[in-house]
Amino acid sequence: MTRKVMIGGVAVGGGASVKIQSMNNTDTRDAKATLEQIARLKDAGCDITRVAVPDLEACEALKKITKDSPIPVVADIHFDYRLAIGAAENGAAKIRINPGNIGGPDKLRLVADCCKERGLPIRVGVNSGSIGRDILTKYGGVNADSMTESALQAVKLLEDQDFGDIVISIKSSSPKLTIDTYRILSKSCDYPLHLGVTEAGTVKEGTIKSAVGIGTLLAEGIGDTIRVSLTGDPVEEVYCAKSILRALGLRDEGITFISCPTCGRTQVPLIELAGKIEEKISRLPYNLKVAVMGCVVNGPGEARECDIGLAGGKDEFLLFEKGEPVRKIPADNAVDEFVKEVIRVGEERNKADRTV
Ligand code: SF4
Repeated sequence: MTRKVMIGGVAVGGGASVKIQSMNNTDTRDAKATLEQIARLKDAGCDITRVAVPDLEACEALKKITKDSPIPVVADIHFDYRLAIGAAENGAAKIRINPGNIGGPDKLRLVADCCKERGLPIRVGVNSGSIGRDILTKYGGVNADSMTESALQAVKLLEDQDFGDIVISIKSSSPKLTIDTYRILSKSCDYPLHLGVTEAGTVKEGTIKSAVGIGTLLAEGIGDTIRVSLTGDPVEEVYCAKSILRALGLRDEGITFISCPTCGRTQVPLIELAGKIEEKISRLPYNLKVAVMGCVVNGPGEARECDIGLAGGKDEFLLFEKGEPVRKIPADNAVDEFVKEVIRVGEERNKADRTV
């Protein structure tokens, strides 16, 4: 098991649940816009967010952002140790640096001491583009061994400063290299690991790469916190991360949507209806398993195992709830009627959960 690190009030590692992170793409100097985006991220299910701190103005804006943010804010710093110290002083819950490019051991010591005084962890972030020439030569280029050694070398720089409150991330845009590297790294140390496939692409392609890279590792028990990296609204990263965790049974928040691929037995316009239903319900705040199935062969069976489901007949659906058939719904009204039923069941579930 990895050691536990606290990021603000959020535990990462040491057996804690896998945490979802994202990164704001607002201008950090604009505290209002950044806080608005953080509120959206939190509502979507984000546990921790990160902001870029490229200059003193952004560092100054952190004071307000960290004071008013409902979730811990991590400061992402490159090159300038003064910004790392400033971010720590201005309320960041964690500092993300590459210890190898922060200005040498003396400057790194100042950052480490400042974080230690405040009980702040440091994330050592290494990516495939930041591996030193000596390591590349030793291992014959960018591969899992050189990535791991690069990360451990960066970690050692902090350990040499007597600092051990560390989270490690090594990122590549290749899911395969990400998987291979974290497998080795997880056997080489007990620091919590932050997983992500970096620069994964737009929402569609990035979702697939992230699901493969992050999902494979989590399924093997590797990884304490994750960030899905997408070219898009960061809120999409959070929904994608939640889907990955749900698929692995690591979180049950949100709607799990099941629908069949359709076949020659289908007698309802399932592709169109399932798409519309999913669009309307997929982000509702209910922990429900919802099925929309095309026919009576497999449909009722699947639908019964869900909290609520539809099984298609001839131009109509049978509505199932908690395993029991409830009533028939004409295909023409299926979207609106079913969405209403999902909301009703979701509200009842949430109310029951609140009274427990
Ligand atoms: S549930 Fe029915 S309609 Fe859907 S793929 Fe299976 S057999 Fe075909």
